[in-house]
Amino acid sequence: MTPKLTNKPHVVIIGAGFGGIRAARALAKSDVRITLIDKHNYHLFQPLLYQVSTAGLSVDDIAYPVRAMLRDQENVEFRMAEVTDVSLDDKTIATDTGDIAYDYLLMATGGMTNYYGMQGLATNAFGMKTLDEAVTIRNHILKMFELASHESDADKRRALLTFVVVGGGPTGVESAGALSELIYFVLAKEYPHINFKEVRIALVEASDGLLPAMPVDLQEATIETLIRKHVEVRLCVQVTDFDGKLLALKGGEIVPTHTVIWAAGVRASDLVDKLGLKQDRMRRAVVNEYLQVPEKPEVFVIGDAAHFKQNETPLPMIAPVAIQQAEIAAKNINSLIKDRPLNKFVYKDVGNMATIGRNAAVVSMGKFNSKGFIAWLIWSIVHILRLIDFRNRMVVFTKWIWDYLVYERVVRIITRQ
Ligand SMILES: Cc1cc2nc3c(=O)[nH]c(=O)nc-3n(C[C@H](O)[C@H](O)[C@H](O)COP(=O)(O)OP(=O)(O)OC[C@H]3O[C@@H](n4cnc5c(N)ncnc54)[C@H](O)[C@@H]3O)c2cc1C
Repeated sequence: MTPKLTNKPHVVIIGAGFGGIRAARALAKSDVRITLIDKHNYHLFQPLLYQVSTAGLSVDDIAYPVRAMLRDQENVEFRMAEVTDVSLDDKTIATDTGDIAYDYLLMATGGMTNYYGMQGLATNAFGMKTLDEAVTIRNHILKMFELASHESDADKRRALLTFVVVGGGPTGVESAGALSELIYFVLAKEYPHINFKEVRIALVEASDGLLPAMPVDLQEATIETLIRKHVEVRLCVQVTDFDGKLLALKGGEIVPTHTVIWAAGVRASDLVDKLGLKQDRMRRAVVNEYLQVPEKPEVFVIGDAAHFKQNETPLPMIAPVAIQQAEIAAKNINSLIKDRPLNKFVYKDVGNMATIGRNAAVVSMGKFNSKGFIAWLIWSIVHILRLIDFRNRMVVFTKWIWDYLVYERVVRIITRQ
């Protein structure tokens, strides 16, 4: 798989996420030498991270080794390394395993959790952006039930059994729904000494609605479904601090809890800060219509790391944007090499969807809107098909069917204290 050292143009892609992998594949037939770099040796399917955190799926169901994904592509070499700096003037990147020079650079470094400068939350709340974080949440939730099962002090027990999810976007909604099902369908059968009326799941959102990208009727259906699943939906409520035991809300309310899952914000990866480029308030690098950065035509930024405006609105940080941008950036690298005109990027909206648990989802695709069982079927099929590998698809499909039939969550081993 190691490409021969040749005089072929050297394309360096940073990030083996949705954008980076798609770009590498789109350059498979190009006469270039590609180095794909990621700090992890796997590609992560982030949309199902919340199922790892709620004991539905295992880590290797939603992650896949990058080397296996690209083993048949001869012009690409993978390097597991963390990129620590980029010099756009010297056309060199610095990594923890040495420097690498490039002719063309494609940055697809994605995003990271944004705590908006609230240090208490950054330290004590759980982010959900990486596999490690999802496993940490799973271990923590299961441990809370172990502790609560023999806690005789009622206040302490209630604090152990209070779970707060912050952020009413798809990740927050999906996490709250899945948490409810884990607790009421599965754990309720196994902790006879816990009074499940003491369990409290709250979804806290600063604005006045959930799933802002959805039509209003689907937003309302989402709230109704969550309430049916015993999730307390708290709208227009801002979180201000969390010390690991007490959650402070704006207005003075204090919620005793050990569990705050932060799904309220993302920002571009911190490597983007090092480029010295114009950034938006989510720290994304502003790119032109061809996805290049100003004055450096050989440098492209795509996906969650890029700020691209269409119809005066910045595109959202979602996988289809990263994938579509990867195709155009790869085409434009080829065009630059062959001295041909570049392609402008135009995003084709593929719609929005979120699941709220068993038989419940909302889907909005153009004029087609759906909720309930049909939406849930569509959501399930789309997510199975988007998984990288046939084995992963089969395993996830089997686990979902099993969970559906027997109301189970199979991955309930506490692996870390
Ligand atoms: C919990 C969750 C749920 C989501 N649900 C959905 C959904 O339902 N639908 C949807 O469309 N989108 C969803 N998203 C968003 C979607 O995952 C992102 O928009 C998408 O992953 C962006 O692709 P990307 O290629 O820009 O970055 P990513 O896929 O995040 O990939 C970035 C890669 O860069 C690597 N990297 C970063 N910094 C460095 C560095 N310094 N050195 C080396 N490597 C580095 C990372 O390890 C990572 O592999 C969700 C995200 C999360 C976190």
